Amino acid sequence: MQQQKRQRRKKPIQPHTVTKAVTHIRLIETNPGKLAVLDALALVYLALCQQYATVFCTQEQPDPFRDTLFATPLSERWHRVAIQQAAGIARSWRTNREQAYQSYLEELEAYREQETEGALDGQAKEPEWREWDVPTLHQLCIQANANVVKLEASEDSSFDYWLKISALDFRKLLAVPVKFADYHRKVLAGKTINTSVQLNKRDGGWWVTLSYDEVVPVQTESEAPVIGIDIGIANFITTSDGKQYGTFHGKLRERQKRDRAKRRRKAKLRACLDKKGVENLPSTTSRSGQRLIRHVRQEINRAVNECFADHPNVQFAYENLSIATMKHRARAMNAYMRVSNLAHIPRQIAWNAAKRGVQATRVKSAYSSQECSVCHSVEKKNRPDQQTFCCLVCGHSAHADLNASLNIQRRVGDTELRACKDRKEVKVVLLSRHAAWKKHNGWP
Ligand SMILES: [Zn+2]
Repeated sequence: MQQQKRQRRKKPIQPHTVTKAVTHIRLIETNPGKLAVLDALALVYLALCQQYATVFCTQEQPDPFRDTLFATPLSERWHRVAIQQAAGIARSWRTNREQAYQSYLEELEAYREQETEGALDGQAKEPEWREWDVPTLHQLCIQANANVVKLEASEDSSFDYWLKISALDFRKLLAVPVKFADYHRKVLAGKTINTSVQLNKRDGGWWVTLSYDEVVPVQTESEAPVIGIDIGIANFITTSDGKQYGTFHGKLRERQKRDRAKRRRKAKLRACLDKKGVENLPSTTSRSGQRLIRHVRQEINRAVNECFADHPNVQFAYENLSIATMKHRARAMNAYMRVSNLAHIPRQIAWNAAKRGVQATRVKSAYSSQECSVCHSVEKKNRPDQQTFCCLVCGHSAHADLNASLNIQRRVGDTELRACKDRKEVKVVLLSRHAAWKKHNGWP
């Protein structure tokens, strides 16, 4: 009895749930006209979805439970599905726009700083903000739930499932057969398919995406040693056992410089054509820029993978980075790709941990780079430059990222720090630890 009680109180490690998508399942046209009904429905749906997306982007905060606002021939259930999808689209549009706007503000700040210092080069132009257009929905894409689209196993052996779709005319139920390829059958064998499905019209045909949840048990022993991870640009990952994975410097940096020069030339050309009254201006977003972003993400994925492969039988601690901290650390990167890429690192750590069943705990990042890992002194001047940590009190010196990763490692299970509401409170706790260290070591 006693034993049971104690075990129950111990916080159980929750298994990770990973949602996996199964794509490229084509809907088959059996009797003519069936998919035409779906086409008609989709057009009405898309128009409604667009109306709500516009409202959610321009007038109100996205709210999937908002009261209905527009008249539509769609059923109440379909109407709700459209509002939910529009809210999702608007939410990510707003996040991306906000990030771009913040980057613009930073560039402007840097420009002004250089201006007052008289350090602007002759070609520099004050950054300009161009307001984003509201997203236009071109693709016929429906994120449906079980209220409007149901997947039912087929009794007939020639198909695997029926997709039962409520049609525009609410009394009618459109039944479209679904046939799996061998690959789909293999992947989905023994799985419980999620009730929400996605329908896409592509290349003249309709496709359905199904998904299932996979529960990955956490393999990590609760006493497994903790490895702290510091996240940065110079080194994507520095671990508390002194290893480093991936960097933005070197090749990636060179590519970024070339891309930046290219965009500057394009912007100049644009300005020049604009003056001459040319109407169709070339776009300033570059394809090579998009490729570069993809490439940075691949490098990050590779670094995180390598780090996990290098450290079997451990658990990880990593930072819960705030946008402000990320910005601070990402100064070396080009503004438009800074924050989103640095944020990709913790996301990738979480994903790797989930799929491998490894425990990874996010801890507070406040002062992790300024705190001395020996005496807990917190001081900006402990970091004379980006790479060096040198404690002004106890003289401890190390690579700055290594010092930070040691602090992060120790923050797992640090309930006192976890209880802190903000940076100020974290600092108070750290300084009291520093005072205790001094007293303990007979410091004057
Ligand atoms: Zn120290």
